[in-house]
This record gives sequence, C-alpha cells and structure tokens, in this order.
Amino acid sequence: MTEGTFLTEIFEHFFDPKKRVFFGYLLVSIFLALGWLVFFRNKSFKKAITKIFDIKILFSRSARADYKVFLINRVFMIFLSPYLLSQMVVATSIYYFLHSIPLFKTSHFPEIPANAVALLFTLSYFIFDDFTKYWVHRFMHKWPVLWALHKVHHSAETLNPITVYRTHPLEGVVFSIRGAFTQGIVISFFIYVFGNKVDLVTILGVNVFVFAFHIAGSNLRHSHIGIQYWSWLEKLIISPAQHQLHHSIDLRHYDKNFGATLALWDWIFGSLHHSEDVDSLVLGIEEDHIDHQSLRDLYIHPLKEILQISLSGFRGVKSIFTIFKT
Ligand SMILES: [Zn+2]
Ligand SMILES: [Zn+2]
Repeated sequence: MTEGTFLTEIFEHFFDPKKRVFFGYLLVSIFLALGWLVFFRNKSFKKAITKIFDIKILFSRSARADYKVFLINRVFMIFLSPYLLSQMVVATSIYYFLHSIPLFKTSHFPEIPANAVALLFTLSYFIFDDFTKYWVHRFMHKWPVLWALHKVHHSAETLNPITVYRTHPLEGVVFSIRGAFTQGIVISFFIYVFGNKVDLVTILGVNVFVFAFHIAGSNLRHSHIGIQYWSWLEKLIISPAQHQLHHSIDLRHYDKNFGATLALWDWIFGSLHHSEDVDSLVLGIEEDHIDHQSLRDLYIHPLKEILQISLSGFRGVKSIFTIFKT
C-alpha cells in the first residue's frame, strides 16, 4: 500500500455516500441546523452560524479526542478488516444451509413482481438491521464487559458528527459481527425465497431508507443542535435531541433512547424518552478516577476493566467450587 492510497483510505468515509460523514450529508446537516435555529429558535442568521460552528464545542478537549480516536480507529480497521467476517461469507453460508432444509425447497413466489420484491427486501433489510442495532446497543449498556467498551463513546462531553466514531475498536468489532450476521440473514433469506429478483433499491449506491435517514440530518444526533420532532414522530424515529439525551448524565435519562434510526424499538420495549431542551444537558459519564479525554485511558482502561470483571467472575466460580468441596 502506498502512502497516498493509505491516506485516501483513512479519509474515504468523507467521500463515501454509504457513510454517515459523507461530505454531502454534512452539508445538508448544516442547512438543516441553520433552518432549525432561524425558523424554530428565532435566531438571527449570524447567531445561527456562530452557534453551528461554535469553536468551543468543535475544538473542545473532548472533540479533539474524538478526532484522534477517529484516525487511530481507521488505521486499526484498515489492517483488521481483511480478517473480519464479511457479510457475503455469512450470507452464502446461510443460503446453503437453508437450501439443505427440504421445507424451504418449494418456497418461491413467482407471481410477486420484481419491483415489489426489491422494495420489500430494501425495507426489511433496513428494519432488521436497525432492530439488531437497538438490541446490541441495549446490551452494551447492560452487560458490564460491553459497557466497559461502550463507555468510550459515552465519555464524550461535547458532541460533533465525528463523535459517532468515538468508540473502542473492540466495540467496532462487535458491531461488524452484528452487521455481518443480520445483513447476511436477510440477504440469504430473501435470495432463498425470491431468487434472483432480490435487489436493493438504492440512491448513490445506498439503501434508499438509509439515504433518507442521512439526508434528514443523521449527523445532527452527534451535535449541539437539539432538533426536536413532534411527540408522535419521536415514537417512530429518533430525533437528534433524543440521541443527545441518551448521552446525558442525568439519572432520568439513564438507559433511554437506544435506537439508531427508529425510536419504535424504544417505544415498544419501554426505553423511550422524548426530547428536552438540550442546552441544559450535561453530557459524559461520572467517573472521576480516569481521564476520559486521554487516549491512553480511552484505549487501555476498558481492557483493564474487562480483565478485572473476568478475574472477579473467575474468583466467584472458584469460591462456589470451594463451598461445594467443604
Ligand atoms: Zn449508548
Ligand atoms: Zn452517540
């Protein structure tokens, strides 16, 4: 790999419409933020611009840590990705497994038009992917080993679009495996049932529903622009202010709004919290003994904590055996 291609790979997310931080979506987000502040918060154009590009937020110590974590994680993923499970490997395995079950052999629906199959597939893919994201995220908050990793994301004290990449690399691995399995299951299931009619409805090569989500300002979820939706809409789709509330240290907001795109899962499974005025929110996590903005603590501390949890679990099992022996 030459130096040029390596640098291109590091920053390719900004030029890839499949990624949230594609420059086109970032530009749209700026316009949405401007519209929100001017028309719904009655700010002057100048004040709105000053707020959007607030230097204190975009270059806070927390934001600078975000940018460094983004760069380090990109390098990590470039080297690791060839070894991670690809969704096609999973899809192919599941496809052949389904073929081996006699019950599925005749499950084809030739009468359904290709366009309808493509739309159904695209929608199912989007919904199922979002559903598994919700549960993995929820488990990240519930299970101490996973929380040790996910805390890295929650330790951000200010939010900007790059904060979405402020994750421990091992959390990235967990989410890649999730992606490979969930997408693999949907792809293989549809190909098995509908055969070669299965196609993704896309815009710029992106699932049309994902594209709509990004165009609707997905980047503002990690920002200080607290766009709120109508109450009914916040039960279906997570507003930027609802995700910002997920980052709040207030106990009232604890374990709320796990949804990635849809708030529907939060509504159904009892973790929904409607948005509030974000200017009063304090973000981050309350833990004084470590410096959450230092790279060393961001990368090493979760590993130490996982080791401690594993050791105490091991000691617990050992003490149960000792009780039985005596
Ligand atoms: Zn979280
Ligand atoms: Zn977040």
